[in-house]
Amino acid sequence: MTREYLKKASLTPKSDASETHKTVQGILDDIEAGGDAKALEYAAKFDKYDGNVLLTAEEIEASCAQVPEKLKADIRFSHDNVRRFAELQKSTVHDVETEISPGFITGQKAIPVDAAGCYVPGGRYSHIASAIMTVTTAKVAGCKHITACSPPRPGVGVAPAIVYAAHICGADKIMAMGGVQGVAAMTFGLFGLPKANILVGPGNQFVAEAKRILFGRVGIDMIAGPTDSLILADSTADAHIVATDLVSQAEHGYNSPVWLVTDDRALAEEVMRLVPGLIDDLPEVNRENAAAAWRDYAEVILCADREEMAACSDDYAPEHLTVQAEDLDWWLGQLTCYGSLFLGEETTVSYGDKAAGTNHVLPTSRAASYTGGLSVHKYMKIVTWQRATREGSKPVAEATARIARLEGMEGHARAADVRLAKYFPDETFD
Ligand code: NAD
Repeated sequence: MTREYLKKASLTPKSDASETHKTVQGILDDIEAGGDAKALEYAAKFDKYDGNVLLTAEEIEASCAQVPEKLKADIRFSHDNVRRFAELQKSTVHDVETEISPGFITGQKAIPVDAAGCYVPGGRYSHIASAIMTVTTAKVAGCKHITACSPPRPGVGVAPAIVYAAHICGADKIMAMGGVQGVAAMTFGLFGLPKANILVGPGNQFVAEAKRILFGRVGIDMIAGPTDSLILADSTADAHIVATDLVSQAEHGYNSPVWLVTDDRALAEEVMRLVPGLIDDLPEVNRENAAAAWRDYAEVILCADREEMAACSDDYAPEHLTVQAEDLDWWLGQLTCYGSLFLGEETTVSYGDKAAGTNHVLPTSRAASYTGGLSVHKYMKIVTWQRATREGSKPVAEATARIARLEGMEGHARAADVRLAKYFPDETFD
């Protein structure tokens, strides 16, 4: 291993987990006890909002009317891509059955969850694309009740473009409520909502902690930490594009790590020279985020060859992984740990974030070592069933009775015995 760190992170992303946990648990307990009124209190406290919580048809129409036509067309373009990709995913899920032994049939069905609660973050940026990603995918999965929930701006409500996106993507209810109170309202079934069976969507540390605490009584897609991105680049890469892509992902937040892994020292040095200027050129808020992320969390790693680069990338298991190098097929075959992979300079993480069709709700903080991102499958339960003829049940009953007795589970054994005695009264079984 000859990895050389040309730039090393001085911090690792972590929030004050115990403080956040205490705050979020307190809010959840309060809202569970106090219901709608308590949720409204927190909305007033955190978002200075005292407007309508569940948007009426007229309010939705009025919001949609404010969205410029060009933006509407772009949202529809993105929705169409996300929908068709989700439909492709759904086409890979089949109900199946097999005669596992003569006369004994076992099967599997995929059943969509009934109610999905889609959290659409809206504190720092208006995440229009998160509405598209979560609501569209729930709709394609076949969820009967889809709620989209997003923080309102004081005196304004949910951003009109988020309302438009949630509406055309198939949300049945759109709720102006952010943070823990929004997540709680969907889980506890406040404001007349059906209780969510699954909560999906990204959010800040309060939203993530609420989902973590509530997991078990409600399903969740994942616990999302700060977004992270890694670029693999060789000597054929364009340093300006690599630097621009790194900065584009560092703007997510002050603690969003970006990593460059390369086998070309000259490229690495040129990228490090270009990044500060590109950050300086951003609007103020984005500049502050990107500058802090680059200063504290970014890394530039020099490897000996592409095999070592691929191994390094798999160790980091990034949420977003970009390859700007020769022989893209080799990389596609080699890499194993990533949320979403962007092959070649002609595509970029921003495309996946906004409009390319693959989902942007992805595993962060190395979770890509064990899971993929949001897909139709997260909204579906893979369940199994069985049925048998009397003759077909015989060997299963005999094996069951013997195994159960050995385990000391006499009740289980008798459930088999009673059938053997009824169906085969002339036989003896040991
Ligand atoms: P948000 O909607 O997640 O959070 C806003 C809410 O936080 C507010 O409504 C408020 O109720 C609550 N809040 C704020 N301060 C609080 C406090 N002190 N105590 C309790 N609650 C408080 O919006 P955000 O803050 O902008 O965060 C969005 C997050 O989503 C970012 O971290 C971003 O990186 C992430 N994101 C991730 C992806 C992905 O796919 N991984 C995509 C988009 C966004």
